[in-house]
Amino acid sequence: MKRCKIKLGYFVLKECGAIAVAQCNRCQGYFCIKHLHGELEAIKGLEPDRETGIIKAKKEEREILCVQCFARSQKQTLQTSSDYTYYDDWFWYFIMRDSFYRSSHYKPFSETESKSMKEKNEEFVDETQENSFLDS
Ligand SMILES: [Zn+2]
Ligand SMILES: [Zn+2]
Repeated sequence: MKRCKIKLGYFVLKECGAIAVAQCNRCQGYFCIKHLHGELEAIKGLEPDRETGIIKAKKEEREILCVQCFARSQKQTLQTSSDYTYYDDWFWYFIMRDSFYRSSHYKPFSETESKSMKEKNEEFVDETQENSFLDS
């Protein structure tokens, strides 16, 4: 069973983790119904793969995009068009996040990384306590 690969969050990224239903044509990741662009419309009439249960579309038949790839593809058209009304919330979410990372040079870390950072901090606190014990 595949899990949805969408990472949400601003400072700490957390994987969606819901059961994936389809593969994105562009990034080849697996995504749940909520994180496919168009949701049910995107996979309407398509049969899931017998083994994996995942819906894959041939590019020439239909393009299945995750919300992140869709947002990125819209960004390209945005630069050549002045029609802002069409873009949905996901578009702004990912584009704003991308430009925030670029302008601030902020590199988001995953949940597991933030956990190990916390552990390191705790070790550090322990060491200082030990040192002050020796000093006194
Ligand atoms: Zn994608
Ligand atoms: Zn998802």
